[in-house]
Amino acid sequence: MTGKLYLVATPIGNLEDITLRAIKTLENVDLIAAEDTRHTLKLLNHLNISKPLFSYHRHNEETKSQYIIDKLLEGKNIALVSDAGTPVISDPGEEVVKLALENNITVIPIPGPCAFITALIASGIDAKEFYFLGFLPLNKKNRLEKLEEIKNATRTTIIYEAPHKLISTLKDFSNILENRKIVVAKELTKIHENFICGTTEELLKNITSPKGEYVLIIEKNKSNLIENNEFENMSLDEHYEYYKSLGFAKNEIIKKIAKDKKTSKNEIYMKFLDKK
Ligand code: SAM
Repeated sequence: MTGKLYLVATPIGNLEDITLRAIKTLENVDLIAAEDTRHTLKLLNHLNISKPLFSYHRHNEETKSQYIIDKLLEGKNIALVSDAGTPVISDPGEEVVKLALENNITVIPIPGPCAFITALIASGIDAKEFYFLGFLPLNKKNRLEKLEEIKNATRTTIIYEAPHKLISTLKDFSNILENRKIVVAKELTKIHENFICGTTEELLKNITSPKGEYVLIIEKNKSNLIENNEFENMSLDEHYEYYKSLGFAKNEIIKKIAKDKKTSKNEIYMKFLDKK
């Protein structure tokens, strides 16, 4: 019988943040694919688990994905873990998941810690709708495009940042974000966990020599947002075009108009059947 691929979330700092299901899974699989085997070995030692480990990281993802599939097809159950948090999220794993699904292999997520969710829930910034961008690109053109997206974002934006790049990223933000609020979440679940909130100017004054791990939560751009009572004076077409200009797709627009007008999606949908 074909084995199963388990994607197991592991702690992002505090070793107690591991679920019972994650522990049971690590105990029961035949093999563990780890981003850094030495790092995962420390976790396994802490949990008193002894299992064969092999490396699966960014630089061997292509070749090792096929190795994992071969082992799964032989009937081995395999857990995939990254150094911290949820595999696949700004971490290796996507390739092997795709390949496993193509081979009709069952992929089972074992949820647990994820740095950006941990940061978002305690940030006090709107968590109803958000973009997670991972790390900003280094390539200048791609980076400028992402910065432009963040500037115009009508939803909360979340990024990961390395300590040695934090100041230059905050400087980039100071050119585009004006007075928008940013929460810098540092060393989550660890001894020096800290949330610093402010405009880029305030943050640049407060954060002088960044150390540790960081998540940045950026408030949405509210300058183009229309207040609820202003929709009353708009025609349905204007209402539709407004959301379209903010980049929403038809289905999302219909949902939003229905909410603004406190009516059913179906009623609005019938009026916009022909819209793209
Ligand atoms: N897969 C991980 C997850 O589920 O969050 C993310 C891995 S990514 C390679 C590593 C980045 O996540 C770090 O550079 C930092 O931005 C963020 N991160 C991870 N652990 C963190 C922590 N304890 N506190 C703050 N940020 C953290």
